[in-house]
Amino acid sequence: MVEVEWMADYEAVIGVEVHAELATRSKMFCSCAVVDSTIAEPNIAVCPVCAGMPGVLPVVNRAAVELGVRLALALECEILPQSFFARKNYFYPDLPKGYQISQYEQPLARNGRLVILTSKGEKTVRIRRVHLEEDTGKLTHILKDGVSYSLIDLNRAGVPLLEIVTEPDLNSAEEVRAYAMTLRNILRYCGINSGDMQKGVIRIEPNVSVRKRGSEQLGTRTEIKNLNSFRALERSVAYEIERQVRLLREGREVVQETRGWDESQGKTVSQRSKEEAHDYRYFPEPDLPPLTLDPAWLEEIRRSLPELPMARRRRFQTQYGLNAYDAEVLTNERVVADYFEAAVAQAPHLSPKTIANWICGELFGLMNQVGGEFDPGRVPVESLVELLSVLDKGTINQLTAKAILAEMFTSGKRAPELIREKGLEQVSDQSQIAGWVSQVLGENPEQVQTYLKGKEALEQWFFGQVMRLAGGKANPKVVQQILREQLNKLKEQA
Ligand code: ADP
Ligand code: MG
Ligand code: ZN
Repeated sequence: MVEVEWMADYEAVIGVEVHAELATRSKMFCSCAVVDSTIAEPNIAVCPVCAGMPGVLPVVNRAAVELGVRLALALECEILPQSFFARKNYFYPDLPKGYQISQYEQPLARNGRLVILTSKGEKTVRIRRVHLEEDTGKLTHILKDGVSYSLIDLNRAGVPLLEIVTEPDLNSAEEVRAYAMTLRNILRYCGINSGDMQKGVIRIEPNVSVRKRGSEQLGTRTEIKNLNSFRALERSVAYEIERQVRLLREGREVVQETRGWDESQGKTVSQRSKEEAHDYRYFPEPDLPPLTLDPAWLEEIRRSLPELPMARRRRFQTQYGLNAYDAEVLTNERVVADYFEAAVAQAPHLSPKTIANWICGELFGLMNQVGGEFDPGRVPVESLVELLSVLDKGTINQLTAKAILAEMFTSGKRAPELIREKGLEQVSDQSQIAGWVSQVLGENPEQVQTYLKGKEALEQWFFGQVMRLAGGKANPKVVQQILREQLNKLKEQA
């Protein structure tokens, strides 16, 4: 999206609602299994409770509450000692009971914060509330022989959800993206869910409004739905900001509504007018007692929290002397950070920066080629350390080490074995390298003449030729030194 100059008079104000599925074994209020509804056969995990039959009673899933508390603590929220479930009434075919059990007046937690990092630096986003609720079923609309049907799959109905709502503290599409990514990292760190946006385990809904810069009043907002990637999130918010500014500049009004993101057109499109809270006729869920949390249990959960990405990033900078960028890349994923720290611990003779470079450069590149997820099993920590150690000793050179790592990655073999098998040991022997250098200079008399006439840059070219002749195995430092000597000798003779 182009940064149009007249946009500068306006400011975007954005609050974000995130729905995160909780990776519990069973559903929120019944003992049905939570299955991957994108691959499971429809309606295999359904019972009278989650199908909304009359006369049944919900029972709260303790594991879901625990995960909710974990996240709330990670977001530095105030946990309410007692919270309540409420019925949010609306009619839609994917909601068998005709209401969703959610939390309204007294949520699980409130008043938290999350620090995000953007190109402008750090920013604190206030978390308004975190509450528990249940997911809906899934509708599939099909057209067959000219007749349209809607199919309902209730596997997802009753799956525990956490809703995380911010204050309207975000002011750009970039910030919204950073917020969403940071939150996703924390969800994964805390084991709340897999973070897989394609599978819908995290659903992000930005509420976007704009106002004249300097104004204190919030503008009318729209809510964007159907975002299944960070890219879609960022593009849709940028689009929506510009659309709203355009409307206001033309003296028109923004309509409060829910809009969907049309990926192919790169546009948000109106879906429906926005419901108000009173449309839902919230009232306390009569079938569930208040949710009372034992302080000792809360303390236990607090103690079990892992070190979170932000804290870990800062520690990586001070403890290992990494720059902010490396520290961030290494701590976004818990497995990566653990892998790095294990390698550093096993290799006190190597610099943490070297290890970081190999992980963030070569290893990430290889992992990306096969699907992205960082899989520490592909190159066990010991194997990486072993490879970097032989590189450090000068047994192999940098280029060979990269090639070996790629081999290790695909074959699962270890570095010494591959070096032996392929005869890749680095040659540092002076007389052998001197032979290669003389051969290259002897076979390229024209280039030698040009060099002697003053084109010094050719030295790099000779170097490349020697390395090629040596099959990449020559010790580059020794090659450089001997090449320089022989060229100097030629200069003296000329
Ligand atoms: P609802 O219950 O209708 O979803 P809330 O008032 O709980 O609405 O707000 C939902 C989200 O929208 C919150 O993240 C909040 O910060 C944000 N929000 C509310 N009003 C505005 C506004 N005018 N502009 C931008 N964001 C807003
Ligand atoms: Mg909402
Ligand atoms: Zn059930």
